[in-house]
Amino acid sequence: MTRYVYDFTDGNKDLKDLLGGKGANLAEMTLMGLPVPPGFTVTTEACRAYLRTGTMPAGLLTEVEHHLRQMQNRMGKTFGDPRDPLLLSVRSGAKFSMPGMMETILDIGLNDASVVGLGQQSADERFAWDSYRRLIQMFGKTVFDVPGEAFEEELTAARSIAGVGTDPELDTAQLQDLVHAYKKVFHEHTGRAFPQAPHEQLFLAIGAVFRSWNAERAVLYRRQERIPQDLGTAVNIMAMVFGNQGTNSGTGVAFTRDPATGRRGVYGDYLRNAQGEDVVAGIRNTVPLAELAAVDPASYRQLLLIMQRLEQRYRDLCDIEFTIENGTLWMLQTRVGKRTPAAAFIIAAQLVDEGCITLDEALQRVTGEQLAQLMFPNFDTTAAPPPLTTGVPASPGAAVGAIVFDSASAVAATEPVILVRRETTPDDLPGMIAAQGILTSRGGKTSHAAVVARGMGKTCVCGVEELRVDGDSVTVAGRTLHAGDVISIDGTTGKVYPGSVAVRPSAVVRYFEGELTAHDDPLLSAMERLMIHADHQARLEVHANADTGADAARARRFGATGVGLCRTEHMFLGERRRLVERLILAEDDAARASALQALLPLQRADFEELFDAMDGLPVTVRLIDPPLHEFLPPLQELTARVARADALGVDPGHDGALLTAVRRMHEQNPMLGLRGVRLGLVIPGLFAMQVRAIAQAAAARVAAGGDPRPEIMVPLVGAVQELETVRAEAESVLASVPGAPPIRLGTMIEVPRAALTAGQIATVAEFFSFGTNDLTQMTWGFSRDDVEGAFFGRYLELGIFSISPFESIDRDGVGELVRAAVQRGRAVRPDLTVGVCGEHGGDPASVRFFHDAGLDYVSCSPFRVPIARLEAGRAAS
Ligand code: PEP
Ligand code: MG
Repeated sequence: MTRYVYDFTDGNKDLKDLLGGKGANLAEMTLMGLPVPPGFTVTTEACRAYLRTGTMPAGLLTEVEHHLRQMQNRMGKTFGDPRDPLLLSVRSGAKFSMPGMMETILDIGLNDASVVGLGQQSADERFAWDSYRRLIQMFGKTVFDVPGEAFEEELTAARSIAGVGTDPELDTAQLQDLVHAYKKVFHEHTGRAFPQAPHEQLFLAIGAVFRSWNAERAVLYRRQERIPQDLGTAVNIMAMVFGNQGTNSGTGVAFTRDPATGRRGVYGDYLRNAQGEDVVAGIRNTVPLAELAAVDPASYRQLLLIMQRLEQRYRDLCDIEFTIENGTLWMLQTRVGKRTPAAAFIIAAQLVDEGCITLDEALQRVTGEQLAQLMFPNFDTTAAPPPLTTGVPASPGAAVGAIVFDSASAVAATEPVILVRRETTPDDLPGMIAAQGILTSRGGKTSHAAVVARGMGKTCVCGVEELRVDGDSVTVAGRTLHAGDVISIDGTTGKVYPGSVAVRPSAVVRYFEGELTAHDDPLLSAMERLMIHADHQARLEVHANADTGADAARARRFGATGVGLCRTEHMFLGERRRLVERLILAEDDAARASALQALLPLQRADFEELFDAMDGLPVTVRLIDPPLHEFLPPLQELTARVARADALGVDPGHDGALLTAVRRMHEQNPMLGLRGVRLGLVIPGLFAMQVRAIAQAAAARVAAGGDPRPEIMVPLVGAVQELETVRAEAESVLASVPGAPPIRLGTMIEVPRAALTAGQIATVAEFFSFGTNDLTQMTWGFSRDDVEGAFFGRYLELGIFSISPFESIDRDGVGELVRAAVQRGRAVRPDLTVGVCGEHGGDPASVRFFHDAGLDYVSCSPFRVPIARLEAGRAAS
């Protein structure tokens, strides 16, 4: 029989698949002898079985009963005992942390009888009734979908009847009335009385937590974070401890280092006389953890010691949730904590210095995505007006946008927006995803807004106490702002500015540009160390897609060791269009030759500049690819111009000839039409002109004492015969240019047929470069220009893929073609150089795939070069 329940004493931190992150870590802390309340975990497997069938898997409830009995024995208390009840918390806990996305129910086991017992045992009746009303509220919402507002209305009414401003001021009698009112709400919405039997409460709660895996917000969060949708959640059942038993009790969250800056030293928030949910929801403003030292020095010292042990055990920054019940400290959760991208680099380097991890391990603690975020711009504060106010800098970045006050408006907006809320709840997730940044008036660095924003890399300022959010306006520093007013928020400093503040490049970018040194800057020096190690470890080289000398020079500063793709058609734009027009309109060989002759010196000059910028490094020049009509005016526009001329009775002149050419060249599917190698085979002299320009430019660089390393790349090849023809022509041109260095000729692999016949093609090609943009388009049959808007949303929703295959390589399909082509190509030419130059070359997950597939290099846009370098190093270490 499958075992569905594990006691905290049975598991450990490596069982996350089965016990979820929370369950595995509770077991680990139990193993370490830390003060964890007794409890057990229902496995993710049980959840998956429940979600499949809609019923509890056979044997589960018996196992739960068994573990509950053990727990009762250990505690010397009985679950729901009317005289002295053992109460339980029931919490979700998936393999990957999904903050606030799923459900938790506290105080299970309370009912009309045990509430009295709890009051007597704790000598605090008020606390008992407060717990009971919390249970009805959480249970109603979670298990029976009773709308939260229905309870909130009663709570607000109770406060106003009592004439008090906050919940803790409600006295026992008032809470008893509230329980009565809550039970009525429960009955009205569910058609049944609030269940009094503790075991029934427990089983219903477990089912509700299972179901919360599929809550809309949880599904959305997983899609956003690329967490698989089929993992299921574990359920942790733990003896309740109470942080709301008076001022000698409390609850808090803490980090073993600052998750925003990476600074050493514990850091956290504490709330006296409260339950954990109050802190996480950011509903009440907390005090810094250090203040606990004054209130309860013994617990504070014990907590510091535990945090130290946890860091040593996990060898990383940990975050924890704890509760103090009448001076006794209890650990409710720990995990390796989320952190900002800057903190990730800083902490990884610190841990190396502390002898805790190796440099190889440090590389695994940072990601290309994090580096990408650090390359975002930030505010130029010299140009900023005085800030309106300052809040808690919860998630770094610079965001500018129009104010919206609710999630739906953020989703509907067409302009950039800032979501302004008193606090956020998991229901605000769609708006948080849509907004540029998030601003809240309540909650600290561990509030929902802060945690979720940090996870998404979204700018967030929270806990701006002087911000009065009032329906559709917000008042701050005597100014009232409305929906649509533009503000700028700085998630690094917490400052909020009126209007739109100018943004400037990130320090990381300025470092790569050579404008800043790493000296004395904790982030830059940590990053520099890790980049050096990544380069040292990497097997993949990183080249850049660059079409100009300036781009190539930047790519080189960013660490590129070559140009993997120069798209020559970009040299045919602007003023030069006229020359391309002449080429297309040429009616005989002489006219065509003259048009090509005019293009030659221009191309040559471009190449010289490029070879100069990349002196000593390979530059792969791709012969022209797109259909020529792309260089002509669009058909509709021309037709209108000619019709206008006709109507006025004037000669359309040049436009007339152009229109004829455009009509002649019109194709239904130009991306599958006359482009790439086909152009070279159809338009005499076009490729020869480009090859000559490359050879002459290289010869000129050699003559000037340079070391040019050009390579010629033929696009869109599908058959070896195409390449043979181009090669024969190219060789004769190259032989005719004196002083040119040896120039290799290779091909792009971007048509599935090329991948499948790579063995033949490699007999003629000296190198391959995968054009994964076209290869993806042609493998899936998705038009790369149209498809994303049309149906990708639906495909993502259905889970046909979890990310666009144009963004991250489709390993199973396109990836298989890549593997096959590498293997077949190298079988006939073992020294075949193989790279990739599609967009995937700068995507972290794809870089890892290309490493595994045995490629020699990836080529990506200059700004992605550092990201690809880091990922290439990570893949190899
Ligand atoms: C490709 O298809 O991946 C490629 C790099 O070429 P282009 O994007 O220019 O078609
Ligand atoms: Mg292509």
